[in-house]
Amino acid sequence: MLSYRHAFHAGNFADVLKHIVLIRILAHLAAKSKPFCCIDTHAGPGQYDLSGAHALKNREFDTGIGRLWNRGDLPPVVAEYRAAVATLNATGELRRYPGSPYFERMWLRRRDRLTLFELHPTDFHALETFAGRDSRISVAREDGFDACVGVLPPAERRGLVMIDPSYEIKTDYRRVVDTLVQAHRRFQTGVHAVWYPVIDRRRANTLERAVENTGIRRVHLFELGARPDATGTGMTASGMIVVNPPWTLRQEMAEALPWLARTLGQHDAGFYRSYELAGE
Ligand code: SAM
Repeated sequence: MLSYRHAFHAGNFADVLKHIVLIRILAHLAAKSKPFCCIDTHAGPGQYDLSGAHALKNREFDTGIGRLWNRGDLPPVVAEYRAAVATLNATGELRRYPGSPYFERMWLRRRDRLTLFELHPTDFHALETFAGRDSRISVAREDGFDACVGVLPPAERRGLVMIDPSYEIKTDYRRVVDTLVQAHRRFQTGVHAVWYPVIDRRRANTLERAVENTGIRRVHLFELGARPDATGTGMTASGMIVVNPPWTLRQEMAEALPWLARTLGQHDAGFYRSYELAGE
């Protein structure tokens, strides 16, 4: 039974980090003329209404995108991300927030492809509407962990596999690692990105060690914390584990992460981590 709806969390501090890293990977893929394919295993509905009941319940966007919406001192990759969000908010007022498929579609060129998986019936229906008749985009109501392996390697032999589960089901922690191993085996040259929350640091540590133990090389971790680790108080931090990161990503995030930790940290307690989980 799926009860998780990302609309409650859209635009929160975790989305800010996740979507900045996502955009930088997409921009890097789009910088070369050869076509690429993006596969998003847990796509969500495509975009979110920040004036809707779900988003307004806890107003998580206030302490995420809301904190940087009107600032004038953004590092370049944060400015690029805000500009992407602004394309959904033509009046200048922050009312809508893009989901990962929206950012992915923004960077698609004529010959690139986007494959989206989403299981929740309501979000899947919204995703179908989002995709419309765009022949570059395919959507399927399938289990993204299993289904992504079946579409690899993509014909383009270039691209991204984005794995962004809700971790609503605790087996997701194991399944992301199993999926990463299988996806990487089939598509070793691809970029693979795994989002993870820090709700209980022990679980996040176990995930990190499990990724290290896969033996996959060229893995970097980027994490942004809003407040120090604490169990039983919800998500305190989140991160992206990236296999085969673009060579520029580490430096770009080195400029952005301290600023993000200062800006999105609660009571001056924000922090970040950026380190290599596995080298060449
Ligand atoms: N990637 C989205 C974004 O950035 O806007 C957010 C995704 S949200 C964290 C996780 C999504 O995965 C939810 O919409 C949920 O319904 C969906 N989901 C949960 N289990 C799934 C599975 N096994 N396969 C595909 N989708 C799943």
